[in-house]
Amino acid sequence: MSNKNLRSILLNLDGASYKSYKNIRGNYEFSNFTLIIDYVQGDPFATPSKLRVKIPQSIANFPQKLYQSSSRNIALRDYLARQFHQVSRRISSHRGTGKSGLIEISYMGQEVLERTSISVDYRYVEARFRVGLPARGRKVLGPQAAAMLCEDIPDIVDSALLYDSLDGSEILHHVETAEDADYIREQLSARNLVAFVANKSILPRRSGIDFRPLQNNPVPFVSPPDLEIDFNCPNCGIVKGMGIREGVTLIVGGGYHGKSTLLQSLELGVYNHIPGDGREFVITKPNAVKIRAEDGRSVVGVNISPFINHLPQERSTSHFSTTNASGSTSQAANIIEALEAGAQLLLVDEDTSATNFTIRDRRMQALIAKEKEPITPFIDKVKQLYDDYHVSTILVMGGSGDYFEVADTVIAMEDYQPHHVTEQAHAIALKYPTDRKAEGGNNFGTITPRIPLGKSIDPSTDKRDSKVKTRDINQITFGREDIDLTAIEQIVDRGQLIAIASAMVYGKENFIDSKTDLPTILDLIMEQIATKGLDSIVDFPQGDLVLFRRCELAAAINRLRSLKITSKHST
Ligand code: ADP
Ligand code: MG
Repeated sequence: MSNKNLRSILLNLDGASYKSYKNIRGNYEFSNFTLIIDYVQGDPFATPSKLRVKIPQSIANFPQKLYQSSSRNIALRDYLARQFHQVSRRISSHRGTGKSGLIEISYMGQEVLERTSISVDYRYVEARFRVGLPARGRKVLGPQAAAMLCEDIPDIVDSALLYDSLDGSEILHHVETAEDADYIREQLSARNLVAFVANKSILPRRSGIDFRPLQNNPVPFVSPPDLEIDFNCPNCGIVKGMGIREGVTLIVGGGYHGKSTLLQSLELGVYNHIPGDGREFVITKPNAVKIRAEDGRSVVGVNISPFINHLPQERSTSHFSTTNASGSTSQAANIIEALEAGAQLLLVDEDTSATNFTIRDRRMQALIAKEKEPITPFIDKVKQLYDDYHVSTILVMGGSGDYFEVADTVIAMEDYQPHHVTEQAHAIALKYPTDRKAEGGNNFGTITPRIPLGKSIDPSTDKRDSKVKTRDINQITFGREDIDLTAIEQIVDRGQLIAIASAMVYGKENFIDSKTDLPTILDLIMEQIATKGLDSIVDFPQGDLVLFRRCELAAAINRLRSLKITSKHST
Protein backbone atom coordinates (compact mmCIF):
# COMPACT_ATOMS: atom_id res chain seq x y z
CA MET A 1 0.00 0.00 0.00
CA SER A 2 1.16 3.53 -0.57
CA ASN A 3 1.82 6.18 1.96
CA LYS A 4 -1.17 8.26 0.74
CA ASN A 5 -3.40 5.34 1.62
CA LEU A 6 -1.90 5.19 5.09
CA ARG A 7 -2.67 8.85 5.59
CA SER A 8 -6.29 8.48 4.54
CA ILE A 9 -6.71 5.32 6.65
CA LEU A 10 -5.44 7.19 9.69
CA LEU A 11 -7.61 10.24 9.02
CA ASN A 12 -10.62 7.95 8.66
CA LEU A 13 -9.83 6.29 11.99
CA ASP A 14 -10.07 9.62 13.81
CA GLY A 15 -12.31 9.25 16.84
CA ALA A 16 -12.60 5.47 16.49
CA SER A 17 -11.78 3.16 19.38
CA TYR A 18 -8.09 2.53 20.00
CA LYS A 19 -8.45 -1.12 19.00
CA SER A 20 -9.13 -0.11 15.40
CA TYR A 21 -5.42 0.83 15.11
CA LYS A 22 -4.88 -2.93 14.79
CA ASN A 23 -6.01 -2.55 11.15
CA ILE A 24 -2.93 -0.58 10.17
CA ARG A 25 -0.56 -3.52 10.50
CA GLY A 26 1.30 -4.10 7.25
CA ASN A 27 3.69 -2.50 4.76
CA TYR A 28 3.51 0.99 3.23
CA GLU A 29 5.63 2.34 0.38
CA PHE A 30 7.04 5.83 0.80
CA SER A 31 9.09 7.65 -1.82
CA ASN A 32 12.42 6.47 -0.43
CA PHE A 33 11.63 3.71 2.06
CA THR A 34 9.13 1.09 3.16
CA LEU A 35 7.37 1.48 6.51
CA ILE A 36 6.48 -1.80 8.19
CA ILE A 37 4.08 -1.92 11.11
CA ASP A 38 4.78 -5.24 12.85
CA TYR A 39 2.93 -4.90 16.10
CA VAL A 40 0.21 -2.52 17.28
CA GLN A 41 -0.27 -1.76 20.95
CA GLY A 42 -3.65 -2.46 22.62
CA ASP A 43 -4.06 0.88 24.38
CA PRO A 44 -2.16 4.17 24.75
CA PHE A 45 -0.50 3.05 28.00
CA ALA A 46 0.63 -0.39 26.81
CA THR A 47 4.04 -1.31 25.40
CA PRO A 48 4.37 0.94 22.32
CA SER A 49 3.83 -0.33 18.79
CA LYS A 50 6.78 -1.82 16.90
CA LEU A 51 7.65 -0.37 13.53
CA ARG A 52 10.45 -0.65 10.99
CA VAL A 53 11.68 1.41 8.09
CA LYS A 54 13.60 -0.24 5.27
CA ILE A 55 15.61 1.98 2.95
CA PRO A 56 17.20 0.52 -0.19
CA GLN A 57 20.96 0.99 -0.10
CA SER A 58 20.71 2.65 -3.54
CA ILE A 59 18.98 5.51 -1.71
CA ALA A 60 20.69 5.34 1.69
CA ASN A 61 23.98 5.33 -0.21
CA PHE A 62 26.43 4.22 2.49
CA PRO A 63 29.86 3.42 1.00
CA GLN A 64 30.69 -0.24 1.44
CA LYS A 65 33.91 0.50 3.29
CA LEU A 66 31.78 1.71 6.23
CA TYR A 67 30.23 -1.71 6.80
CA GLN A 68 32.43 -4.28 5.11
CA SER A 69 34.05 -5.78 8.23
CA SER A 70 32.12 -7.01 11.22
CA SER A 71 33.72 -4.35 13.47
CA ARG A 72 32.72 -1.60 11.06
CA ASN A 73 29.26 -2.98 10.50
CA ILE A 74 28.49 -3.02 14.22
CA ALA A 75 29.94 0.47 14.68
CA LEU A 76 28.06 1.96 11.70
CA ARG A 77 24.80 0.55 13.02
CA ASP A 78 25.62 1.97 16.44
CA TYR A 79 26.28 5.37 14.87
CA LEU A 80 22.99 5.36 12.97
CA ALA A 81 21.04 4.33 16.06
CA ARG A 82 22.52 7.34 17.86
CA GLN A 83 21.53 9.63 15.00
CA PHE A 84 18.00 8.21 14.99
CA HIS A 85 17.81 8.71 18.74
CA GLN A 86 18.87 12.36 18.51
CA VAL A 87 16.55 13.29 15.68
CA SER A 88 13.55 11.41 17.06
CA ARG A 89 14.01 13.03 20.44
CA ARG A 90 14.07 16.42 18.82
CA ILE A 91 10.97 16.03 16.67
CA SER A 92 8.71 13.66 18.57
CA SER A 93 6.40 15.34 21.05
CA HIS A 94 3.70 14.38 23.47
CA ARG A 95 0.48 14.06 21.49
CA GLY A 96 -2.27 12.89 23.82
CA THR A 97 -2.85 10.21 26.42
CA GLY A 98 -0.18 7.88 27.85
CA LYS A 99 2.63 7.21 25.39
CA SER A 100 0.89 9.04 22.54
CA GLY A 101 3.44 10.73 20.29
CA LEU A 102 6.48 8.72 21.28
CA ILE A 103 8.99 7.73 18.59
CA GLU A 104 11.89 5.95 20.21
CA ILE A 105 14.82 3.69 19.39
CA SER A 106 16.48 1.58 22.10
CA TYR A 107 18.71 3.38 24.55
CA MET A 108 22.48 3.58 24.05
CA GLY A 109 25.20 4.38 26.54
CA GLN A 110 28.96 4.79 26.10
CA GLU A 111 29.49 1.32 24.63
CA VAL A 112 29.39 0.36 20.98
CA LEU A 113 27.42 -2.87 21.02
CA GLU A 114 25.83 -5.13 18.49
CA ARG A 115 22.17 -4.13 18.48
CA THR A 116 19.15 -5.23 16.50
CA SER A 117 17.74 -1.69 16.30
CA ILE A 118 19.62 -0.99 13.05
CA SER A 119 20.88 -3.32 10.36
CA VAL A 120 22.95 -2.44 7.31
CA ASP A 121 23.95 -4.52 4.31
CA TYR A 122 24.49 -3.92 0.60
CA ARG A 123 20.72 -4.11 -0.03
CA TYR A 124 19.09 -2.19 2.81
CA VAL A 125 19.39 0.00 5.86
CA GLU A 126 16.73 -1.01 8.34
CA ALA A 127 15.74 0.75 11.57
CA ARG A 128 13.44 -0.73 14.20
CA PHE A 129 11.77 1.52 16.72
CA ARG A 130 8.78 2.01 19.00
CA VAL A 131 5.88 4.33 18.38
CA GLY A 132 3.15 5.42 20.79
CA LEU A 133 0.14 5.69 18.48
CA PRO A 134 -1.73 8.82 19.58
CA ALA A 135 -5.07 8.88 21.34
CA ARG A 136 -7.24 11.09 23.49
CA GLY A 137 -8.46 8.76 26.20
CA ARG A 138 -9.11 5.60 24.20
CA LYS A 139 -10.08 7.35 20.96
CA VAL A 140 -7.77 7.47 17.96
CA LEU A 141 -6.27 10.86 17.11
CA GLY A 142 -6.21 10.43 13.33
CA PRO A 143 -4.52 13.66 12.14
CA GLN A 144 -1.84 13.33 14.83
CA ALA A 145 -1.16 9.74 13.81
CA ALA A 146 -0.90 10.81 10.18
CA ALA A 147 1.58 13.54 11.13
CA MET A 148 3.72 11.04 13.05
CA LEU A 149 3.79 8.25 10.52
CA CYS A 150 3.62 10.23 7.29
CA GLU A 151 5.72 13.29 8.20
CA ASP A 152 7.87 12.71 11.28
CA ILE A 153 9.13 9.29 10.29
CA PRO A 154 10.12 10.43 6.77
CA ASP A 155 11.91 13.38 8.42
CA ILE A 156 13.84 11.03 10.70
CA VAL A 157 14.78 8.85 7.73
CA ASP A 158 15.96 11.90 5.80
CA SER A 159 18.11 13.35 8.55
CA ALA A 160 19.37 10.23 10.37
CA LEU A 161 19.56 7.35 7.94
CA LEU A 162 20.79 8.71 4.60
CA TYR A 163 24.53 8.95 4.10
CA ASP A 164 24.32 12.20 2.17
CA SER A 165 22.71 14.03 5.06
CA LEU A 166 25.27 12.84 7.63
CA ASP A 167 28.84 13.80 8.47
CA GLY A 168 30.93 11.31 6.50
CA SER A 169 34.20 11.96 8.31
CA GLU A 170 32.55 11.55 11.72
CA ILE A 171 31.08 8.20 10.64
CA LEU A 172 34.44 7.07 9.32
CA HIS A 173 36.08 7.98 12.62
CA HIS A 174 33.38 6.05 14.53
CA VAL A 175 33.87 2.84 12.54
CA GLU A 176 37.66 3.13 12.39
CA THR A 177 37.90 3.61 16.14
CA ALA A 178 35.88 0.45 16.76
CA GLU A 179 37.94 -1.47 14.24
CA ASP A 180 41.22 -0.38 15.85
CA ALA A 181 39.91 -1.33 19.31
CA ASP A 182 38.91 -4.77 18.03
CA TYR A 183 42.34 -5.11 16.42
CA ILE A 184 44.08 -4.48 19.75
CA ARG A 185 41.74 -6.90 21.55
CA GLU A 186 42.52 -9.61 19.01
CA GLN A 187 46.26 -9.06 19.41
CA LEU A 188 46.33 -9.34 23.21
CA SER A 189 46.64 -13.13 23.52
CA ALA A 190 49.41 -13.49 20.95
CA ARG A 191 51.43 -10.95 22.94
CA ASN A 192 50.74 -12.63 26.30
CA LEU A 193 48.72 -9.65 27.46
CA VAL A 194 45.38 -9.53 29.22
CA ALA A 195 44.72 -5.80 28.96
CA PHE A 196 45.94 -2.53 27.50
CA VAL A 197 45.38 1.07 28.60
CA ALA A 198 46.38 3.68 26.03
CA ASN A 199 48.22 6.80 27.06
CA LYS A 200 45.93 9.85 27.27
CA SER A 201 42.93 7.69 28.18
CA ILE A 202 40.42 9.41 30.46
CA LEU A 203 39.22 6.83 32.98
CA PRO A 204 37.09 8.64 35.59
CA ARG A 205 33.38 9.19 34.94
CA ARG A 206 31.17 12.14 35.81
CA SER A 207 29.30 10.28 38.50
CA GLY A 208 28.05 6.88 39.57
CA ILE A 209 25.05 7.35 37.29
CA ASP A 210 26.53 9.45 34.50
CA PHE A 211 29.08 7.48 32.53
CA ARG A 212 30.33 10.25 30.30
CA PRO A 213 33.98 11.26 30.94
CA LEU A 214 34.74 13.44 33.96
CA GLN A 215 34.87 17.07 32.86
CA ASN A 216 36.76 18.78 35.68
CA ASN A 217 40.50 18.24 35.41
CA PRO A 218 40.63 14.52 34.78
CA VAL A 219 44.22 13.27 34.94
CA PRO A 220 44.98 11.52 31.64
CA PHE A 221 46.54 8.08 31.89
CA VAL A 222 50.27 7.72 31.20
CA SER A 223 51.96 4.32 31.19
CA PRO A 224 54.98 3.72 33.42
CA PRO A 225 57.96 3.70 31.02
CA ASP A 226 58.90 0.05 31.44
CA LEU A 227 55.34 -1.22 31.01
CA GLU A 228 54.80 0.81 27.87
CA ILE A 229 54.10 -1.08 24.67
CA ASP A 230 52.52 -0.17 21.37
CA PHE A 231 50.14 -1.48 18.75
CA ASN A 232 50.22 -0.60 15.10
CA CYS A 233 46.52 -0.20 14.42
CA PRO A 234 45.04 -0.51 10.92
CA ASN A 235 43.53 2.99 10.94
CA CYS A 236 45.11 5.27 13.51
CA GLY A 237 48.62 3.81 13.38
CA ILE A 238 50.79 3.53 16.49
CA VAL A 239 48.98 3.59 19.84
CA LYS A 240 51.15 3.54 22.97
CA GLY A 241 50.12 2.63 26.46
CA MET A 242 50.42 0.25 29.38
CA GLY A 243 50.29 -3.45 28.68
CA ILE A 244 49.16 -5.75 31.50
CA ARG A 245 50.75 -9.17 31.19
CA GLU A 246 49.20 -12.55 31.87
CA GLY A 247 49.56 -13.95 35.37
CA VAL A 248 48.76 -12.19 38.63
CA THR A 249 48.68 -8.40 38.61
CA LEU A 250 48.24 -6.38 41.76
CA ILE A 251 47.02 -2.77 41.73
CA VAL A 252 48.03 -1.04 44.97
CA GLY A 253 48.03 2.55 46.19
CA GLY A 254 46.53 4.87 48.76
CA GLY A 255 42.79 5.32 49.15
CA TYR A 256 41.19 7.63 46.59
CA HIS A 257 44.16 7.43 44.22
CA GLY A 258 42.27 5.86 41.32
CA LYS A 259 42.62 2.07 41.80
CA SER A 260 38.96 1.16 41.44
CA THR A 261 38.54 3.59 38.56
CA LEU A 262 41.28 1.76 36.67
CA LEU A 263 39.73 -1.62 37.41
CA GLN A 264 36.25 -0.46 36.36
CA SER A 265 37.68 0.76 33.07
CA LEU A 266 39.25 -2.66 32.56
CA GLU A 267 35.93 -4.38 33.34
CA LEU A 268 34.28 -2.43 30.53
CA GLY A 269 37.31 -2.85 28.25
CA VAL A 270 35.62 -6.02 27.01
CA TYR A 271 33.41 -3.62 24.99
CA ASN A 272 34.27 -0.90 22.49
CA HIS A 273 33.54 2.72 23.34
CA ILE A 274 32.34 5.67 21.31
CA PRO A 275 34.84 8.31 20.19
CA GLY A 276 35.18 10.94 22.90
CA ASP A 277 34.47 8.50 25.71
CA GLY A 278 38.08 8.54 26.91
CA ARG A 279 38.24 4.74 27.06
CA GLU A 280 38.33 4.05 23.32
CA PHE A 281 41.61 2.18 23.72
CA VAL A 282 41.19 0.68 27.16
CA ILE A 283 41.04 -2.90 25.97
CA THR A 284 40.57 -6.11 27.92
CA LYS A 285 40.42 -9.73 26.87
CA PRO A 286 36.89 -10.58 25.72
CA ASN A 287 36.26 -13.17 28.43
CA ALA A 288 37.32 -11.12 31.44
CA VAL A 289 34.91 -11.42 34.34
CA LYS A 290 34.46 -9.11 37.32
CA ILE A 291 34.30 -11.17 40.49
CA ARG A 292 32.78 -9.90 43.68
CA ALA A 293 31.13 -11.00 46.88
CA GLU A 294 27.37 -11.22 46.56
CA ASP A 295 25.91 -12.39 49.83
CA GLY A 296 22.31 -13.49 49.69
CA ARG A 297 22.47 -14.99 46.20
CA SER A 298 21.38 -18.54 45.56
CA VAL A 299 23.95 -21.13 44.48
CA VAL A 300 23.01 -24.46 42.93
CA GLY A 301 25.24 -27.51 42.94
CA VAL A 302 28.56 -25.73 42.45
CA ASN A 303 31.83 -27.48 43.24
CA ILE A 304 33.39 -24.78 45.42
CA SER A 305 35.82 -27.24 47.03
CA PRO A 306 38.90 -25.50 45.60
CA PHE A 307 38.07 -22.67 48.03
CA ILE A 308 35.74 -24.04 50.69
CA ASN A 309 35.93 -27.32 52.56
CA HIS A 310 34.53 -29.03 55.65
CA LEU A 311 31.68 -26.62 56.35
CA PRO A 312 29.82 -26.99 59.65
CA GLN A 313 27.19 -29.76 59.67
CA GLU A 314 29.17 -31.58 56.98
CA ARG A 315 27.54 -29.70 54.14
CA SER A 316 28.85 -30.74 50.75
CA THR A 317 31.18 -28.29 49.06
CA SER A 318 31.71 -30.35 45.91
CA HIS A 319 28.01 -29.92 45.22
CA PHE A 320 27.27 -26.77 47.14
CA SER A 321 23.79 -25.28 47.19
CA THR A 322 22.37 -22.49 49.27
CA THR A 323 19.48 -20.06 49.04
CA ASN A 324 21.47 -17.47 50.93
CA ALA A 325 25.21 -17.49 50.31
CA SER A 326 27.64 -15.71 52.61
CA GLY A 327 30.16 -13.18 51.35
CA SER A 328 32.94 -15.73 51.00
CA THR A 329 30.88 -18.62 49.61
CA SER A 330 29.21 -16.31 47.08
CA GLN A 331 32.59 -15.06 45.93
CA ALA A 332 33.91 -18.62 45.66
CA ALA A 333 30.84 -19.65 43.65
CA ASN A 334 31.19 -16.59 41.42
CA ILE A 335 34.75 -17.60 40.56
CA ILE A 336 33.97 -21.26 39.91
CA GLU A 337 30.93 -20.37 37.79
CA ALA A 338 33.01 -17.87 35.81
CA LEU A 339 35.60 -20.59 35.15
CA GLU A 340 32.86 -23.01 34.14
CA ALA A 341 31.63 -20.40 31.64
CA GLY A 342 35.13 -19.97 30.19
CA ALA A 343 36.57 -16.87 31.90
CA GLN A 344 40.27 -16.33 31.22
CA LEU A 345 40.79 -13.21 33.30
CA LEU A 346 39.34 -12.44 36.73
CA LEU A 347 39.00 -8.83 37.92
CA VAL A 348 38.73 -8.42 41.67
CA ASP A 349 38.45 -5.26 43.78
CA GLU A 350 39.00 -5.22 47.53
CA ASP A 351 36.06 -2.77 47.77
CA THR A 352 33.63 -5.52 46.75
CA SER A 353 35.41 -8.61 48.11
CA ALA A 354 34.93 -10.61 51.28
CA THR A 355 38.02 -10.05 53.43
CA ASN A 356 38.08 -13.63 54.74
CA PHE A 357 37.98 -14.89 51.17
CA THR A 358 40.87 -12.68 50.11
CA ILE A 359 43.42 -12.97 52.94
CA ARG A 360 44.26 -14.97 56.07
CA ASP A 361 47.38 -13.76 57.80
CA ARG A 362 49.99 -15.46 59.98
CA ARG A 363 48.37 -14.48 63.25
CA MET A 364 44.95 -15.74 62.24
CA GLN A 365 46.53 -18.97 61.02
CA ALA A 366 48.02 -19.35 64.50
CA LEU A 367 44.76 -18.66 66.33
CA ILE A 368 42.31 -20.53 64.08
CA ALA A 369 43.81 -23.78 62.85
CA LYS A 370 43.43 -24.70 59.19
CA GLU A 371 41.10 -27.56 60.17
CA LYS A 372 38.70 -25.03 61.72
CA GLU A 373 38.66 -22.67 58.75
CA PRO A 374 36.63 -23.89 55.76
CA ILE A 375 38.01 -21.16 53.49
CA THR A 376 41.22 -21.49 51.53
CA PRO A 377 41.88 -17.82 50.80
CA PHE A 378 42.30 -16.55 47.26
CA ILE A 379 45.92 -15.65 48.00
CA ASP A 380 46.75 -19.38 48.09
CA LYS A 381 44.86 -20.15 44.88
CA VAL A 382 45.51 -17.24 42.57
CA LYS A 383 48.84 -18.55 41.25
CA GLN A 384 47.57 -22.11 40.86
CA LEU A 385 44.69 -20.75 38.85
CA TYR A 386 47.17 -19.39 36.36
CA ASP A 387 49.54 -22.37 36.45
CA ASP A 388 46.81 -25.03 36.15
CA TYR A 389 44.17 -23.28 34.02
CA HIS A 390 45.98 -20.31 32.47
CA VAL A 391 43.46 -17.94 34.05
CA SER A 392 44.98 -14.57 34.97
CA THR A 393 43.87 -12.21 37.73
CA ILE A 394 44.00 -8.45 38.17
CA LEU A 395 43.42 -7.60 41.81
CA VAL A 396 43.01 -4.22 43.48
CA MET A 397 44.45 -4.48 46.97
CA GLY A 398 45.45 -1.42 48.94
CA GLY A 399 44.98 -3.04 52.32
CA SER A 400 47.37 -6.02 52.47
CA GLY A 401 50.93 -6.58 51.32
CA ASP A 402 50.59 -10.35 51.74
CA TYR A 403 49.92 -10.60 48.01
CA PHE A 404 53.39 -9.27 47.06
CA GLU A 405 54.82 -12.80 46.88
CA VAL A 406 52.22 -14.11 44.49
CA ALA A 407 52.08 -11.09 42.19
CA ASP A 408 53.92 -11.17 38.86
CA THR A 409 53.33 -7.46 38.36
CA VAL A 410 52.60 -4.75 40.90
CA ILE A 411 51.25 -1.39 39.76
CA ALA A 412 50.93 1.46 42.25
CA MET A 413 48.40 4.22 41.65
CA GLU A 414 49.52 7.57 42.96
CA ASP A 415 47.64 10.78 42.22
CA TYR A 416 45.75 8.85 39.51
CA GLN A 417 48.98 7.84 37.81
CA PRO A 418 50.34 4.29 37.55
CA HIS A 419 53.87 3.38 38.64
CA HIS A 420 55.61 0.09 38.12
CA VAL A 421 56.69 -1.17 41.56
CA THR A 422 57.10 -4.95 41.09
CA GLU A 423 60.77 -4.91 42.10
CA GLN A 424 60.21 -2.88 45.25
CA ALA A 425 57.27 -5.06 46.25
CA HIS A 426 59.30 -8.24 45.78
CA ALA A 427 62.23 -6.75 47.73
CA ILE A 428 59.88 -5.82 50.57
CA ALA A 429 58.43 -9.33 50.54
CA LEU A 430 61.96 -10.68 51.12
CA LYS A 431 62.79 -8.15 53.79
CA TYR A 432 59.56 -8.54 55.78
CA PRO A 433 58.46 -12.17 55.40
CA THR A 434 54.81 -12.73 56.28
CA ASP A 435 55.57 -16.19 57.71
CA ARG A 436 52.27 -17.31 56.26
CA LYS A 437 51.78 -21.01 55.65
CA ALA A 438 50.53 -21.72 52.16
CA GLU A 439 47.19 -23.49 52.53
CA GLY A 440 46.29 -24.14 48.92
CA GLY A 441 47.61 -27.68 48.48
CA ASN A 442 49.40 -28.73 45.31
CA ASN A 443 46.93 -27.67 42.69
CA PHE A 444 43.86 -25.55 42.14
CA GLY A 445 41.38 -28.41 42.07
CA THR A 446 38.70 -29.62 39.70
CA ILE A 447 36.17 -27.48 37.89
CA THR A 448 33.04 -29.60 37.49
CA PRO A 449 30.62 -28.69 34.68
CA ARG A 450 27.00 -29.01 35.76
CA ILE A 451 23.99 -30.31 33.84
CA PRO A 452 20.90 -28.13 34.32
CA LEU A 453 17.47 -29.78 34.38
CA GLY A 454 15.22 -28.41 31.64
CA LYS A 455 12.09 -28.34 33.74
CA SER A 456 13.76 -26.19 36.38
CA ILE A 457 14.20 -23.34 33.88
CA ASP A 458 10.58 -22.36 33.38
CA PRO A 459 9.30 -19.02 32.08
CA SER A 460 5.63 -19.90 32.64
CA THR A 461 3.45 -18.69 35.49
CA ASP A 462 0.23 -20.01 37.04
CA LYS A 463 -1.73 -17.67 34.83
CA ARG A 464 0.30 -17.51 31.63
CA ASP A 465 2.29 -19.74 29.33
CA SER A 466 5.30 -17.55 29.49
CA LYS A 467 6.24 -14.35 31.19
CA VAL A 468 9.62 -12.74 30.68
CA LYS A 469 10.24 -9.11 31.53
CA THR A 470 13.20 -6.92 32.41
CA ARG A 471 13.66 -3.95 34.69
CA ASP A 472 16.50 -1.46 34.29
CA ILE A 473 19.77 -3.30 33.83
CA ASN A 474 19.55 -5.49 36.88
CA GLN A 475 16.42 -7.61 36.94
CA ILE A 476 14.81 -10.26 34.78
CA THR A 477 11.36 -11.54 35.63
CA PHE A 478 11.42 -15.12 34.44
CA GLY A 479 8.11 -16.90 34.97
CA ARG A 480 7.37 -16.80 38.68
CA GLU A 481 10.77 -15.52 39.66
CA ASP A 482 12.77 -12.30 39.67
CA ILE A 483 16.44 -12.85 38.86
CA ASP A 484 18.61 -10.24 40.57
CA LEU A 485 21.59 -9.25 38.44
CA THR A 486 22.62 -6.14 40.36
CA ALA A 487 26.05 -7.65 41.04
CA ILE A 488 26.73 -8.40 37.37
CA GLU A 489 28.57 -5.20 36.64
CA GLN A 490 29.48 -6.00 33.05
CA ILE A 491 25.86 -5.84 31.90
CA VAL A 492 25.71 -2.27 30.60
CA ASP A 493 22.54 -2.12 28.54
CA ARG A 494 18.97 -3.14 29.19
CA GLY A 495 18.88 -4.66 25.71
CA GLN A 496 21.47 -7.19 26.89
CA LEU A 497 19.06 -8.28 29.62
CA ILE A 498 16.20 -8.57 27.13
CA ALA A 499 18.43 -10.68 24.90
CA ILE A 500 19.65 -12.82 27.82
CA ALA A 501 16.05 -13.47 28.88
CA SER A 502 15.16 -14.41 25.28
CA ALA A 503 18.22 -16.66 25.08
CA MET A 504 17.13 -18.46 28.25
CA VAL A 505 13.73 -19.18 26.73
CA TYR A 506 15.31 -20.18 23.43
CA GLY A 507 17.90 -22.33 25.20
CA LYS A 508 15.23 -24.07 27.21
CA GLU A 509 13.24 -24.88 24.08
CA ASN A 510 16.22 -26.09 22.07
CA PHE A 511 19.24 -27.17 24.07
CA ILE A 512 18.49 -27.63 27.76
CA ASP A 513 17.59 -31.32 27.70
CA SER A 514 18.83 -32.47 31.12
CA LYS A 515 21.74 -34.26 29.39
CA THR A 516 23.84 -31.38 28.12
CA ASP A 517 26.21 -29.56 30.46
CA LEU A 518 26.10 -25.81 30.94
CA PRO A 519 29.31 -24.96 29.02
CA THR A 520 27.97 -26.87 25.99
CA ILE A 521 24.59 -25.14 26.26
CA LEU A 522 26.35 -21.76 26.34
CA ASP A 523 28.40 -22.79 23.29
CA LEU A 524 25.29 -23.80 21.37
CA ILE A 525 23.41 -20.59 22.14
CA MET A 526 26.38 -18.32 21.39
CA GLU A 527 27.13 -20.24 18.18
CA GLN A 528 23.53 -19.89 17.05
CA ILE A 529 23.67 -16.13 17.64
CA ALA A 530 27.06 -15.79 15.95
CA THR A 531 25.93 -17.60 12.78
CA LYS A 532 22.24 -16.71 12.53
CA GLY A 533 22.05 -13.47 14.49
CA LEU A 534 20.13 -12.27 17.53
CA ASP A 535 16.94 -12.24 15.44
CA SER A 536 17.08 -16.04 15.34
CA ILE A 537 16.37 -16.41 19.06
CA VAL A 538 13.08 -14.48 19.00
CA ASP A 539 9.75 -14.95 17.17
CA PHE A 540 9.65 -11.77 15.09
CA PRO A 541 12.06 -8.93 14.26
CA GLN A 542 12.62 -6.82 17.36
CA GLY A 543 14.71 -3.71 17.75
CA ASP A 544 15.51 -3.97 21.41
CA LEU A 545 18.02 -6.82 21.60
CA VAL A 546 21.68 -6.18 22.36
CA LEU A 547 24.43 -8.76 22.23
CA PHE A 548 25.62 -10.14 25.55
CA ARG A 549 28.55 -12.37 26.53
CA ARG A 550 28.30 -16.02 27.48
CA CYS A 551 29.37 -15.37 31.07
CA GLU A 552 26.49 -12.94 31.63
CA LEU A 553 24.04 -15.48 30.21
CA ALA A 554 25.55 -18.04 32.58
CA ALA A 555 25.26 -15.53 35.43
CA ALA A 556 21.51 -15.17 34.83
CA ILE A 557 20.96 -18.95 34.68
CA ASN A 558 23.08 -19.42 37.80
CA ARG A 559 21.01 -16.93 39.77
CA LEU A 560 17.71 -18.60 38.96
CA ARG A 561 16.49 -19.82 42.34
CA SER A 562 14.42 -22.59 40.77
CA LEU A 563 17.49 -24.02 38.96
CA LYS A 564 18.18 -27.70 39.52
CA ILE A 565 21.03 -29.78 38.19
CA THR A 566 21.26 -33.53 37.69
CA SER A 567 22.95 -35.43 40.45
CA LYS A 568 25.10 -37.40 37.97
CA HIS A 569 27.76 -34.75 38.31
CA SER A 570 27.33 -34.21 41.99
CA THR A 571 30.53 -35.83 43.16
P1 ADP B 1 40.54 4.13 45.06
O1 ADP B 1 39.91 2.89 44.55
O2 ADP B 1 42.02 4.15 44.87
O3 ADP B 1 40.17 4.44 46.47
P2 ADP B 1 38.88 5.51 43.13
O4 ADP B 1 39.27 4.85 41.86
O5 ADP B 1 37.58 5.13 43.73
O6 ADP B 1 40.02 5.39 44.19
O7 ADP B 1 38.90 7.07 42.79
C1 ADP B 1 38.60 8.04 43.77
C2 ADP B 1 38.02 9.28 43.09
O8 ADP B 1 38.96 9.87 42.20
C3 ADP B 1 36.78 8.99 42.25
O9 ADP B 1 35.81 9.98 42.50
C4 ADP B 1 37.26 9.08 40.83
O10 ADP B 1 36.25 9.50 39.94
C5 ADP B 1 38.39 10.07 40.90
N1 ADP B 1 39.41 9.78 39.88
C6 ADP B 1 39.89 8.55 39.56
N2 ADP B 1 40.80 8.63 38.58
C7 ADP B 1 40.91 9.94 38.27
C8 ADP B 1 41.68 10.68 37.31
N3 ADP B 1 42.51 10.07 36.45
N4 ADP B 1 41.51 12.03 37.27
C9 ADP B 1 40.66 12.64 38.11
N5 ADP B 1 39.92 12.01 39.02
C10 ADP B 1 40.01 10.68 39.11
MG1 MG C 1 38.66 1.53 45.55
